Amino acid sequence: MGSVRIEKMTKSFGDFTALHDINLDIKEGEFFALLGPSGCGKTTTMRCIAGFENPTSGRIYIGDREVEKIPANKRNCGMVFQSYALFPHMNVFENVAYSLNIKQLNASNPIKQMGIYGRLLSSRLGKYPADIRNKVMEILKYVELDNHADRLTSELSGGQQQRVALARALVMEPAVLLMDEPLSNLDQKLRHSMRNTIRKIQQDLGITTIFVTHDQEEAMSMADRVAVMDKGHIVQIGTPTDLYSNPSSPFIADFVGTSNILEGTVEGEENGFTVVKGEGFLLRSSTKTKKKSVDVIIRPEHVKVEAADSVIDHNETNVIEGTVIMSTYLGSIVRYDVQVGSYQLIVDTTYSSGANIFEEGKKVKLTVEHERVLLI
Ligand code: ATP
Repeated sequence: MGSVRIEKMTKSFGDFTALHDINLDIKEGEFFALLGPSGCGKTTTMRCIAGFENPTSGRIYIGDREVEKIPANKRNCGMVFQSYALFPHMNVFENVAYSLNIKQLNASNPIKQMGIYGRLLSSRLGKYPADIRNKVMEILKYVELDNHADRLTSELSGGQQQRVALARALVMEPAVLLMDEPLSNLDQKLRHSMRNTIRKIQQDLGITTIFVTHDQEEAMSMADRVAVMDKGHIVQIGTPTDLYSNPSSPFIADFVGTSNILEGTVEGEENGFTVVKGEGFLLRSSTKTKKKSVDVIIRPEHVKVEAADSVIDHNETNVIEGTVIMSTYLGSIVRYDVQVGSYQLIVDTTYSSGANIFEEGKKVKLTVEHERVLLI
């Protein structure tokens, strides 16, 4: 059973509290990401689940089993680290077979009679029992490394080494797979393809996976749900779409995707919309709020740029006047930096070939739908 539940977990190192009252409920088969900036406590949370750290207080359950007092090697968790932690003097097959070999040594098995040294020696001579051989080759096939079984891991590329590390964790059939920044050492292109590989394997095997990353794009593109952490607290848990469309704080709006964040004062209500005013803008929003001071969140792709002389019905949409200070052509989109009062708003517009790009210094009108103006 691979569900993971954490109740009121805190972790202190001396008088520094790294984790404050963490609660998590991760379902069996779920791909769950812990996302947050450096030092927010992602790795410490993971290490407590794995059993490499003891929480100062609180409870951890894997399946129905409470595990704080159970040693790491009995928790049935597979780990994949940023540094692959492979044995460089062993080939791919041996790296993956290693833990399986040791595990079977401890089980009731006729080969156990050989003793550990005899067993390891016979392993190095390639005399693996058929069950181990088959299992390792099956998992290597899964990560598309069956043709590299006899290569030394030191001779492999970073992506291949990471796939060996993944195979080594998976071959043990863990209840939970814990991955700590597993893609950080790979270049951009490889990261992309490894994201797909990991996600596909996770879905095929249905293995509960907890994935630590500081890269929001990675978390958002891979996970079923994401917990955003900040300074040892979990600040929001949700699906990627939830977090993107309904961030609960400016921190999340800024950390998950790109946001324009403006300070506003609520003026009142008009035709069912909340009217909010700030330096250089007056906007109407579908968000209901009882607050007077709010943060106004507008995603760059929710803003349209129109020529300054365009005639726009102010009742239909919000209109803000501004001046283009920079336009950047990014292939499928054009990103504008637009000065509005004291703010520089980021605006992403889809670019179609031959379309006019507003130049620097140009006066423009920005339009934003009422439901795209979020008040926090
Ligand atoms: P990163 O993305 O940089 O790895 P993180 O979110 O994983 O960061 P943690 O490694 O969990 O963060 O660390 C959380 C906080 O706890 C940090 O301030 C860190 O310095 C502190 N910390 C972690 N381990 C220890 C330790 N063994 N002793 C003292 N402080 C620690």
